[in-house]
Amino acid sequence: MSAETATGLKRIGVFGGAFDPPHNAHVELAKAALEQFDLSTLYIIPTGQAWHKARVLSAPRHRLAMSRLAFENLPRVVVDERELQRAGPTFTIDTLQALQAENPQAELYLFIGADQFSSFRQWHKWHEILELAIICIADRAQSTLAQTQFDAYASHNNRFFTLQLPLMSVSATQVRQLMALGSASAGEIAQLVPAPVARYISLHRLYRSR
Ligand code: ATP
Repeated sequence: MSAETATGLKRIGVFGGAFDPPHNAHVELAKAALEQFDLSTLYIIPTGQAWHKARVLSAPRHRLAMSRLAFENLPRVVVDERELQRAGPTFTIDTLQALQAENPQAELYLFIGADQFSSFRQWHKWHEILELAIICIADRAQSTLAQTQFDAYASHNNRFFTLQLPLMSVSATQVRQLMALGSASAGEIAQLVPAPVARYISLHRLYRSR
């Protein structure tokens, strides 16, 4: 894709997640997004306590610090803490509206994994999200994309793209479980998260079972 849309707008990417912790698939997804969509900026947005996550997340300061370590070396990336600072539940629509207001000359591209896409109709104000942003979906090993999922949005099919990303089975759950076992070798963790994130987890003794 060229740097600007047909209407001369810049493309701004938005990639949100609990990032508890950020792992290698998140980083690969961000790299692919920057390359394939020629984004002028990619906002990485660690979520607050998202309404749909039953688990209590690690402290915002840890997830923010790890997100910086994981993503900040990528070009044109901004790690944005607005959702962590928001009181109450965080909704993607609020963040998109704020970003559009701050960047009136931009078109927004929201990046999600296939597992998130399968529950997209349960998102708060999903119709409005579709009006504000183009949704770019990365396939995910545990939740493979099917054409029928796109068919459900037939009247909006110009609002969806697929992000080309090799399937990676890593998840944050897997990293937390490995750490909780207490027996994970440095080598095993290094396969799953960027090295600075692995060091941070170890230094702050995150995800250890009591
Ligand atoms: P958890 O295991 O705790 O549910 P997670 O690995 O899904 O966490 P999140 O921070 O919840 O990580 O994910 C942020 C975004 O990254 C989501 O849109 C998710 O679908 C996507 N994502 C996470 N892991 C992958 C993966 N392996 N392949 C493709 N997309 C992924």
